[in-house]
Amino acid sequence: MNVHVPDNARRDLALVGCPDCAFRFETPNYRLGMQQRCPECAAAIKPKYVRRAQDAGYSLSYHTFLQLLTMRPYRDEIAPLIEGWFGYRTEYRGRTPVVSNAAGRTVDLEQMHEMIQTSSRWQEILYWKAGKFFR
Ligand SMILES: [Zn+2]
Repeated sequence: MNVHVPDNARRDLALVGCPDCAFRFETPNYRLGMQQRCPECAAAIKPKYVRRAQDAGYSLSYHTFLQLLTMRPYRDEIAPLIEGWFGYRTEYRGRTPVVSNAAGRTVDLEQMHEMIQTSSRWQEILYWKAGKFFR
């Protein structure tokens, strides 16, 4: 019997390039838009797509997630989802979303994004809410 590999991050690898040194490497689709360290020149960079993941499935890049959390009408559906899942409240300072936990502390948006993307169920729900965004 074959071993089932539940890790959907494996097929989710996008080919990206370092804007500083042009080195190409693979990174999970959901990390796109997040700051990363270039494996070649070690600069703190936001890698650019060279080739999208072949089967990104229901994953969303961080860039897309931030847009959904910021733009109407998406944010009106996304913010209540996040409150339902984590009990976090989303407020806006201008157009910048600020998410706080029950204790009133500001939540790190990159960490929240990674948390959502580790759950295939949350990932899928968010993807369908984002549906119109991709068309
Ligand atoms: Zn580099």
